Amino acid sequence: MKRFYLESYGCQMNVYDTQGLSRLLEDHGFSRVDQPESADVVLVNTCSVREHAEERTLNRLAVLGRLKAANPNMKLGVCGCMAQRMGAEIKKRVPRVDLVVGAQALPAVLPALEALDRGEKFAPRVEPLDHYLPPPRPRFDAKNLKGFVTIIRGCNKSCAYCIVPTTRGPEVSRHPDDLVLEVHELVLQGAREITLLGQNVNSYESGGVDFPELLARCGKVPGQWRLRFTTSHPRDMSRDVMKRMAQAPRLAPWIHLPVQSGSPRVLRSMNRDYTLEHYLEVIAAAREEIADLALTTDIIVGFPGETEAEFEETVALIERLRYDTFYVFKYSPRSGTAAARREDDVPPELKQARLARLLEVQRRLSHEVNQAYVGRTLEVLVEGIDQKRGNVLARTGQNKIVVLPPGSGEAGTFRQADILRAEGQTLHGTLRQTA
Ligand code: SAM
Ligand code: SF4
Repeated sequence: MKRFYLESYGCQMNVYDTQGLSRLLEDHGFSRVDQPESADVVLVNTCSVREHAEERTLNRLAVLGRLKAANPNMKLGVCGCMAQRMGAEIKKRVPRVDLVVGAQALPAVLPALEALDRGEKFAPRVEPLDHYLPPPRPRFDAKNLKGFVTIIRGCNKSCAYCIVPTTRGPEVSRHPDDLVLEVHELVLQGAREITLLGQNVNSYESGGVDFPELLARCGKVPGQWRLRFTTSHPRDMSRDVMKRMAQAPRLAPWIHLPVQSGSPRVLRSMNRDYTLEHYLEVIAAAREEIADLALTTDIIVGFPGETEAEFEETVALIERLRYDTFYVFKYSPRSGTAAARREDDVPPELKQARLARLLEVQRRLSHEVNQAYVGRTLEVLVEGIDQKRGNVLARTGQNKIVVLPPGSGEAGTFRQADILRAEGQTLHGTLRQTA
């Protein structure tokens, strides 16, 4: 039996794809191992969103390639977005790579491996964007408690900085019946939290079902579990959509709504396709419709032409909206995108300074926002034990970790926790005793 080792980089959708790829290989007689040294096939599922991520992956591939000195029969493969974007170029950068399989057709790993066994020469398998061959559904591991379901692939937006439409192609929504069935199966297998995934879940549409309707249908699946989704695009949100979404049963009170910038000019230049007024209106609606909502976002600093005053507009927006937390990225030009044709004119030190400033704001705000939970009682999902200290870890619907004393409850159960204090991003508490 051949052994394979699989590494995954990038977004949750890549994690889902990687799990599907793992299942495909297992179903075809391969067994998964935890160390690349003991594998016959080493595969890396890659991300292209930022240049830094690609450079790190190329370095990692070079390191993995060196394992061939001890095991010349080992095959090294690159899958996913980098493979889709760079194709044969990857082999020029890391000559020890044996196979390259793009994000559009991960199952092509199998015929690619067979071709290598027959001694055929290197030929990257990169399908055109309008041809998508999905890997099988991942096998669910009940001890994870968390299940993920990709509901829509690709992206029809054209944000000026973003490579995703180039590597993942146009949007394709899966049929709602298939999705409800998948959710049902996950719940039966022990999933306690299910996250619906897509680059832009709000533009989901299939068989006359839109995203709020899909949430309602998924939420009706019986059992002890909660529902999340990520990522939403502000353009496809409105007060009305928010009202309908908020009615879905089991919906966790957490929304990740990337704003990218607080400057109206930068937003236009990014081609984000919404105004700041619209974004603020959506946030106001979300906070009115969903009780105890936690809000998170993504920000890009140093987009071409971003002035100090425009950066300050972003800081002001964050202070105003008081996000629970946010992710900050330094702008990274991606070849082939509209922004890459502009001058990357914010110097690296300034990008770094803006990033550091935002992280400082985030630390303060997260701390302040979390203090408001102290003294309250929240529903938590007990997830497991912190191996270092023996504490029990649980998660709120707002996606916040609550640290509980050792022995506090069984993994996989929903309990009420009294929040005693907050430190940074983490809450500390005790479980309410049930009568
Ligand atoms: N579809 C989601 C959306 O529209 O917000 C997220 C897609 S992207 C994989 C995740 C985040 O990476 C984006 O929200 C953005 O902040 C960041 N990102 C994308 N392209 C980038 C680039 N070229 N440079 C820096 N950050 C980037
Ligand atoms: Fe990229 Fe924009 Fe699509 Fe998100 S919505 S994946 S940022 S193009």
